[in-house]
Amino acid sequence: MSDFLKSLTARDPGEKEFHQAVKEVLETVQPVLDRNPEYRQAAVLERITEPERVIMFRVPWMDDQGQVQVNRGFRIQMNSSIGPYKGGLRFHPSVNLSILKFLAFEQVFKNALTTLAMGGGKGGSDFDPKGKSDNEVMRFCQGFMSELFRHIGPDTDVPAGDIGVGAREIGYLFGIYKKLRYEFTGVLTGKSLGWGGSLIRPEATGYGNVYFASEMLATKNDRLEDKTCLVSGSGNVAQFTVEKIIELGGKVVTLSDSSGYIFDEAGIDREKLAFVKRLKNIRRGRISEYIDKYSEAVFTEVDTTLDFNPLWNHKAHCAFPSATQNEINGKDAQNLVNNGIKLISEGANMPSTPEAINIFLDKKLLYAPGKAANAGGVAVSGLEMAQNSMRLNWPREEVDARLKMIMRSIHQTCLDAAAEYGMPGNYMAGANIAGFVKVVNAMLDQGLV
Ligand code: NDP
Repeated sequence: MSDFLKSLTARDPGEKEFHQAVKEVLETVQPVLDRNPEYRQAAVLERITEPERVIMFRVPWMDDQGQVQVNRGFRIQMNSSIGPYKGGLRFHPSVNLSILKFLAFEQVFKNALTTLAMGGGKGGSDFDPKGKSDNEVMRFCQGFMSELFRHIGPDTDVPAGDIGVGAREIGYLFGIYKKLRYEFTGVLTGKSLGWGGSLIRPEATGYGNVYFASEMLATKNDRLEDKTCLVSGSGNVAQFTVEKIIELGGKVVTLSDSSGYIFDEAGIDREKLAFVKRLKNIRRGRISEYIDKYSEAVFTEVDTTLDFNPLWNHKAHCAFPSATQNEINGKDAQNLVNNGIKLISEGANMPSTPEAINIFLDKKLLYAPGKAANAGGVAVSGLEMAQNSMRLNWPREEVDARLKMIMRSIHQTCLDAAAEYGMPGNYMAGANIAGFVKVVNAMLDQGLV
């Protein structure tokens, strides 16, 4: 195994996030490989870590000053053995091949866990929508899609949103796709309700994560009611995580963005959450503005000289990291433990570093990796695809009931797989093993392609 990782690292030396994601999966699927020597003979590791296709392209666009700007666009078509490629688009200046390959790799396993027929992909650009006008965002989206449209389609590859890609961007991307293709299809998910979107899709990742956390607590005869919770981020995933926690009687005391975090000891209630939604989704403001309205809360600016994030250093029962990768390091994990944390459920993708995960597993905390806990988003994207194909819209209650059922099923699948391979209660091992076995078996069934 370590030989395999060495050669993977040597092949693409700069891709540290991708190596981190692969290492985590490979370490936990070792018992599966030991039990199934035919997997090694079929070189499944070499095949599953190599994208089926990587598309990289130039995106020239014009800003409001008439200046030409150039960004880089990507789509990683990682694995299509159980369905069309499916996974979000991220627009953020940090985007590069390593980050998108890690996200696409994670997506393959996540999608396999959802019970729906979806392969894994991911894409995006180093374009930063922050501070851009709507017209600039539209022109960028049109430039981006004027290349990507050749490579995607409702039965080929169905992108969705991720960091920096919300309802506005999906609208612009869909509009230009429709014009170029001369057809109206379900090629993107996360569409607005009036033109093909699914009820509960905006809520799905956050709600799904809280459903998953509730399932974990139920294994200890516990529930979210009266629990103090730390949530990071203040975007799509964070907002609906907070909404569901409030509904289930928990108390959320933090939210953040890339400038810093707010701590509101009294708890973020429905009214305060509505303010955050307006602030972030309509005014596109900063989380620091929360304290202008709610002066009892405290804002702490990001301090890059610290080797820990003070957001994770408050007394709480549950943590829901919902911003970005590697936002909880070993020190943060230790701070969480010292403050009595009992549960960590990842809304973001790979928010915990390997050191942090080791601490959570060591302490036998309820720890759910993103590929299981945040799978509700892509699951409801799958339901949006199903509704588009049928040209029907399911009511809110039906989609929510299906989401709950899927999260319950993922939770059980993780527990069963972990127990089968001698690691009871280890959700990370369970998620990796269950996803791996399903995808690898499909790959073997389909021969060398
Ligand atoms: P949004 O763009 O809506 O929100 C992202 C939030 O995280 C913002 O508050 C943003 O702050 C903050 N953030 C982003 N990058 C950084 C950074 N480098 N440091 C600190 N804060 C940062 O994205 P989503 O809510 O959709 O996504 C959040 C996470 O959830 C991501 O990891 C994504 O991959 C994952 N995810 C999302 C799904 C979805 O359905 N949307 C599905 C599954 C996983 P700022 O505004 O300052 O940048």
